[in-house]
Amino acid sequence: MPTTLITNIGSLVTNDPSLGTGPLGLVADAAVVMADGLIAWVGPADRAPAADEVYDAGGRAALPGFVDSHSHLVFGGDRTQEFNARMSGTPYTAGGIRTTVAATRAASDAELDATVARYVAEARRQGTTTIETKSGYGLTAEDEARSLRIAAAHTPETTYLGAHIVAPEYADDPAGYVDLVTGPMLEACAPHARWVDVFCEKGAFDGDQARAILTAGARAGLIPRVHANQLTYGPGVQLAVELGAASADHCTHLTDADVDALASSGGATIATLLPGAEFSTRATYPDARRLIDAGAAVALSTDCNPGSSFTSSMPFCIAVAVRDMRMTPDEAVAAATLGGARALRRDDVGRITAGARADLMLLDAPSHVHLAYRPGVPLVSRVWQGGVRAA
Ligand SMILES: [Zn+2]
Repeated sequence: MPTTLITNIGSLVTNDPSLGTGPLGLVADAAVVMADGLIAWVGPADRAPAADEVYDAGGRAALPGFVDSHSHLVFGGDRTQEFNARMSGTPYTAGGIRTTVAATRAASDAELDATVARYVAEARRQGTTTIETKSGYGLTAEDEARSLRIAAAHTPETTYLGAHIVAPEYADDPAGYVDLVTGPMLEACAPHARWVDVFCEKGAFDGDQARAILTAGARAGLIPRVHANQLTYGPGVQLAVELGAASADHCTHLTDADVDALASSGGATIATLLPGAEFSTRATYPDARRLIDAGAAVALSTDCNPGSSFTSSMPFCIAVAVRDMRMTPDEAVAAATLGGARALRRDDVGRITAGARADLMLLDAPSHVHLAYRPGVPLVSRVWQGGVRAA
């Protein structure tokens, strides 16, 4: 495989403070060499080694590919009417998921596969080079396993979310559904998943049920992550920290004890903030500033799903996080790259350092700050994934 030099990068985010200025490790007038799908060299352009191919970035900014650590891409149908009704005054509840469950069960494998492929490609064009995605719209052993099998063809970061809501067939027997999720469904799904997740929320699963589901998943070799404290205060965040989950996702309604728990996990449990959900449900945003000031590690992610957050755009999430969640542009960019990598417990992505995967993008802008400064503008102009031009 030929080596490629990207040179004349006006401003490079490395996410390695030892390589440049500040927490982002910014390098001005930088260059990057890619070889065999990895970053081989990073530094000032005037000291760059020779390479087989040269790409002139024309003074544009470069940063690591986004790591979107929370999405729900295996689904059938859409929920345009529900969104329309909500924007016309109907409040959001967890129950809308049932509409997508019916459509997902009715969809063919080929339809579901095409949907995942479509949104993974859509995300990639916007700079996302690593994406996690979940089951959770099948809610039978067969349909959950099928969802994960299809997802696994597109990403290694697959999450078993049989505990998204109680399946409609078990509406009068939630304990029976937890038995299914922790028993035969888990057995069918574990071979296709890396993570186990639960929607710990009023109307979905309470703390005891969530604990049983995450513990069973961990016994089957899956690592926990939790949909926690999205719609109301609840036990999700503290349970996530207690069980050593990789992330507590949403974190919209937090007590001081919740914030303390995340901070005292020492970065083991990442607070993953999903502003697309609050945007699309006209809800109050999570307070990123409060978490960061307390010492909690944060990630930004899209939560891309057809119900509560139908965006695949990490630049959009960055812009909202800066405007409405009191993050600085530097913090938001770090959370969308390195933060996502930490939430997926990956050290090969989310940074541009020698040995990391060659996942990076160029912006049609001189600085990463433009991701928040120029909201809604398609600034991502070139994407490399594993050293290969992907967009
Ligand atoms: Zn979600």
